[in-house]
Amino acid sequence: MKVHFITHGCKANQYDTETFRQELEARGADIVDSPDEADACVVNTCTVTHKADRTARKAIRSVKRDNPNTKVVVAGCSAAQRTEDYTGMDEVFGVVEGHDQIEVANLIAPESPYLDKHEEPVGAELLDHHEPRTRGWIKVQDGCDRNCAFCATKLARGASRSRDPDAIVEEAKRLSRRHCELVFTGIHIGHYGRDLSARGESQEHTLSTLIARLLEEVPDVRFRLGSIEATEIDDLMIDLLEQSGGRLVPHLHVPMQAGSNKVLRRMRRWHTREDYRDRLVEIAGRLPYLGLGADVMVGFPGETHDDFLKTRELVEKLPYTYLHVFPFSAREGTAAEEMDGKVDPEVKARRSKELRELAMDKGERYRASRVGQAAEIVVETDDTGMTEDYLRVGLTGDPDTRIGDRIYAPLEMEDGELVARV
Ligand code: SF4
Repeated sequence: MKVHFITHGCKANQYDTETFRQELEARGADIVDSPDEADACVVNTCTVTHKADRTARKAIRSVKRDNPNTKVVVAGCSAAQRTEDYTGMDEVFGVVEGHDQIEVANLIAPESPYLDKHEEPVGAELLDHHEPRTRGWIKVQDGCDRNCAFCATKLARGASRSRDPDAIVEEAKRLSRRHCELVFTGIHIGHYGRDLSARGESQEHTLSTLIARLLEEVPDVRFRLGSIEATEIDDLMIDLLEQSGGRLVPHLHVPMQAGSNKVLRRMRRWHTREDYRDRLVEIAGRLPYLGLGADVMVGFPGETHDDFLKTRELVEKLPYTYLHVFPFSAREGTAAEEMDGKVDPEVKARRSKELRELAMDKGERYRASRVGQAAEIVVETDDTGMTEDYLRVGLTGDPDTRIGDRIYAPLEMEDGELVARV
């Protein structure tokens, strides 16, 4: 049985695909790079925008057109939210409402020789590597306890559930044999441990206590935080960023969404622009340099020109090195879908463009500021790598390096691009 995977969306989805891969490999499947030669193809979908749903449907049709004999299994967030849309498609063999690797594997390889021998599916509880081999991800939790008005991910993934810290440490040890960087991922990683602590365990569990433990028990690798809310970065986390000698790398991706308190309230965010700004100013002040990114949404219902200017002003003030700017699009079943004050699509496009240009400018200035400084680079391809502060750099010279290696080199600027001579 040959299986191909197509993954859309966030790192949590990519992690889930890895659990599908490991479970199917355990059942004897071979993973192939192209749908053309696959007996089955798993499309792990995202539902963050309408475009993401469309992309999923397009991928399904294209796979089936190229290889009419392949079985298409659809899983992931869009499959959980819009199950009937997919079960109604002629191209689809089966739908898994969410991310259960056993359900995915049961659709594709229910009668594998592995199962005959073992009777019970073992499941990919602990991953031992990721494909490709550069960075490994550790999913620390799934789901979210917040209630943002625009968010369909929360509807698709449910409440926050944290993984057992011992399992995470064991998985990190396994992954560290193949990867020199591990990234913490999840849907709302800042809430890691809340449900564990609430069970009455004597020990308090938080993301920062987990990371402190991993830094102790899993040597040699560097760790990177996935997207985390600025207001949920606690004091211990800032100490670890400052004092771990770069093992918790100086890179944060902190969703802003909007810079106007009125819009934040309508979005049902729990923080003000001041809470967000003050935490980031404090963190940036403690670190010699910091890769800082954010998601910003423009054109949320009711967003006026003045509201947008407040967002713009916050973007100008904070030391961002990149931004992901999204024009608002209402997701089915969310509170925002029913809100009045829709913003004209042209206005949304203009505001998005303005913020993207501003972010490009800030990114360029940051990259220039790093010239002449040392960087710790994980090699990603034959001629590119990723620095600790999340800059993609070219590798020049005569690199005798392999994908996944970690190298140290000063950064230079060549034809407007950052490069490292190795
Ligand atoms: S914090 Fe808000 S946007 Fe993020 S997953 Fe939770 S509900 Fe969605």
